[in-house]
Amino acid sequence: MGRFHESLGSLQEVRESGRTKDLAWRRSQLRGLLRLLTEKEDDIFGVLHDDLGKHRAESYRDEAQAPLVSFPATALVVPEPLGVVLIFSCWNLPLGLALEPLSGALAAGNAVVVKPSELAPYTAAFLAANIPRYLDPRAVKVVLGGPEVGEQLMELRWDKVLFTGSARVGRTILTKAAKHLTPVVLELGSKCPCIVDQLYSKRDRQIAVNRMAGAKWSVCAGQACAAIDYILVEEKFAPILIGLLKSTVKRFTTTPECMARILNAKHFQRLSNFLVDDKVAASVVHGGSVNPKTLTIEPTILLNPPLHSDIMTEEIFGPLLPIITVKKIEDSIKFVNSMPKPLAIYAFTKNEKLKHQIIDETSSGSVTFNDAIVQYAVEGLPFGGVGESGFGQYHGKYTFELFSHKKAVFKRSFLIEFMFRYPPWDDTKTEM
Ligand code: NAD
Repeated sequence: MGRFHESLGSLQEVRESGRTKDLAWRRSQLRGLLRLLTEKEDDIFGVLHDDLGKHRAESYRDEAQAPLVSFPATALVVPEPLGVVLIFSCWNLPLGLALEPLSGALAAGNAVVVKPSELAPYTAAFLAANIPRYLDPRAVKVVLGGPEVGEQLMELRWDKVLFTGSARVGRTILTKAAKHLTPVVLELGSKCPCIVDQLYSKRDRQIAVNRMAGAKWSVCAGQACAAIDYILVEEKFAPILIGLLKSTVKRFTTTPECMARILNAKHFQRLSNFLVDDKVAASVVHGGSVNPKTLTIEPTILLNPPLHSDIMTEEIFGPLLPIITVKKIEDSIKFVNSMPKPLAIYAFTKNEKLKHQIIDETSSGSVTFNDAIVQYAVEGLPFGGVGESGFGQYHGKYTFELFSHKKAVFKRSFLIEFMFRYPPWDDTKTEM
């Protein structure tokens, strides 16, 4: 175990150094593979003979795959429906997170069970009442219930499961799916960073802040998987940014209806707990008041809360916005890379070099420049996480692909027949 742990560690170090990403490195490795096959050909035939008793000619045919013997032919990919698929949706976008995957699953020709979140009971009941009226009730079903119903469903054999929710439940889903070798797509949450470069015109700064504030506080009060979780900004620009965020959020939330409430008492408590830590409370530079009666939390900005505090180690999923300062904006890349891979990275900048650096040197489900959350609605882009933010991507044609099996179809004709592909073997049959 220790030995493997060390090897994995050294592989991770090499990868982090950027060595394996380099195009020249990739080419040289493929050339090396080719050289291995040509320079060691005799040894390869030898070991295959020793292991399996294969003749040179058979090894050549099986392992080197000469396409000539299959000429003439056509190859095509035929998408086929997977079968019966299960979709778990989440409560924060309770309609969209059920209907978007459902549309692709149906387009791909599957029968579907949708299990909406019990935490948005009105939307769940709406879906259960209306889906059978509008769609074929024999092929599309809505199952209502909470975790226990989810667990019962996961005892069954499905052809694919798409789960949107927390990493904690995602792990349970994955474990249960293993029993039936069911492929799973996990759409999870994360801490999405927003890198804010100094923008030099007043207009650009205000537009950037409108978009940040809109994405953070006007989409379900920050209870969105792709919400900005925290901001990274240069020390010297932080006071200007905070000033603009404060004035903008004040303008955006003049009436209580301008911001959604926190889902329930449990989530309200979870968010309030972030602020209980003395050092976190001391870092509040705007807002901070909470109202358990109305389940509302004021848009709250924090400056440099401790990095080891819960607010900086757990996904926030609410209207609290920590701002972390860095010396140089490029340092934010190191910061992002020190955290688990997020669902989205946002950056407000006009600096093309920084944009390239962010694309090339970080990993995330998506990268959006000069806006936030809007990438979710771009049908041409796949949506999904990487690493701890999940795996599998959907939206638009990607949803169709996600719920289809790409069947490889190969068609031969009877026109030409090469007899050298068959035994009895002799050495001339390796000279194709
Ligand atoms: P959750 O994980 O508790 O629940 C999600 C779904 O799983 C619900 O339908 C629920 O009934 C079901 N469920 C719960 N326990 C289960 C169990 N033991 N077995 C089977 N099913 C079970 O949801 P949550 O924690 O309230 O959701 C918030 C999280 O979801 C956040 O992390 C957020 O980022 C993430 N999220 C991700 C996306 C995305 O598209 N990536 C979208 C929305 C929310």
